[in-house]
Amino acid sequence: MTNTLDTILAAARDHAKTVIKPNVDGWNATKKWPRDASDKAGAAGLTGLYAPLELGGQGLPLSEGIQVYEQLGMGDGAYAFALSMHNICTFAGCGYGTETFKDKWARDLTSGRKLANFALTEPQSGSDPVNMYSRATINGDGTWTISGSKAWVSLATEADIYFTVVKTSDAPGHKDMAMIAIPADAKGLSFGPRYETPSYSFLPISEMYMDAVRVSEDNIILPVGQGLQGSLMAIDIARVSIASSCCGLMQAALDTALSYSKNRKMFGGKNLDLDGIQWMLGEVATDLEVSRLLYRRAAEALGTPQGPLMAAHAKRFVPNAAVKAANICTQVLGGMGLLQPYGLDRLSRLAQMLRIVDGTTEISRVVIGRALQKRAAELPDIPVPKGFGENGSAPVR
Ligand SMILES: Cc1cc2nc3c(=O)[nH]c(=O)nc-3n(C[C@H](O)[C@H](O)[C@H](O)COP(=O)(O)OP(=O)(O)OC[C@H]3O[C@@H](n4cnc5c(N)ncnc54)[C@H](O)[C@@H]3O)c2cc1C
Repeated sequence: MTNTLDTILAAARDHAKTVIKPNVDGWNATKKWPRDASDKAGAAGLTGLYAPLELGGQGLPLSEGIQVYEQLGMGDGAYAFALSMHNICTFAGCGYGTETFKDKWARDLTSGRKLANFALTEPQSGSDPVNMYSRATINGDGTWTISGSKAWVSLATEADIYFTVVKTSDAPGHKDMAMIAIPADAKGLSFGPRYETPSYSFLPISEMYMDAVRVSEDNIILPVGQGLQGSLMAIDIARVSIASSCCGLMQAALDTALSYSKNRKMFGGKNLDLDGIQWMLGEVATDLEVSRLLYRRAAEALGTPQGPLMAAHAKRFVPNAAVKAANICTQVLGGMGLLQPYGLDRLSRLAQMLRIVDGTTEISRVVIGRALQKRAAELPDIPVPKGFGENGSAPVR
């Protein structure tokens, strides 16, 4: 562990404890993104994790920086998610953006003075992003004109720039896809009504409309042909970040259950003295240890050929474990587990949200399934008994 990582993890832990946890219910009540909190995250070095030092970032490798979300997830998974998307966009802008883009935006993004988010999903294309309708026309005078609609845009109206994935022709497939950063004040950019998201209503999410938005080519982050591949790499990072924040969520749920059950009197002793309760919480504790090992292993694999598969394993397993952990810990508190001040109901809803965002559990299964088919093709054949390897020829009982 490097000194920088130690310092950043301590800053993230402190941010979760002193800024997120005491305030998150208030943020949800006011339904406002806490800009003062994200400003503090920026001042603490949490908004430029993977960006180079010379652009104001922390210069952490992905395998280390991703651990920050475990700390932030102890406070709130939706807040951790929004900062993870900002960090991924900042990484992309600082790594792949043009020199003009970097001059204008890099330091504002790494410092958190300006926030960024990613706009890929469309109303008709979530799990199937190639099927998108947003189009960019390349004008030939150094500008692009973009029209279309995005859905589920987090930090909608709050971010200062949206890293938007578009197609540049009507040809099927992804070879014409690109990513271009659209500043929030671009003419023709607007947002729909906010989605109602009761358990994380401080995070503004809505549709985003692009009506002949004109943007300089200086804002191209991924050129034509690299839009999908680059977005999938970004999504792999996001998947592991989500798994990391789920570990924080599980720890928060477990700690709440332990803090309560060690004091709750019953049957002449305490709730935590009961074997049944220890077994329930023991299962959460094991799942948490497994989840930590898995997301850290997946974070190390990012950028290697194993990255997408390991990210899929982490995204499939860990949010499911978080849903289970939040439910078990709620059960351990009995009726009290359902009351708002204990926060477990919020954690259950957040864990379910984290199963969906940035590729659902089922899409992770699809990625894993394809890898298994590839592996099967490399293995020697085991002969299948006559009649079992051919369609329609199995013996009829
Ligand atoms: C809180 C939140 C914030 C978000 N923020 C952003 C954002 O900032 N930017 C952005 O671009 N997107 C964002 N998203 C969108 C998110 O990534 C999508 O919701 C997600 O990819 C799933 O797409 P969908 O909702 O359209 O579901 P659909 O694609 O309609 O899927 C519906 C169901 O079908 C299942 N399914 C799909 N394909 C298969 C298959 N092959 N086999 C079996 N089952 C399948 C899915 O798992 C799911 O259960 C956000 C979503 C949420 C919930």
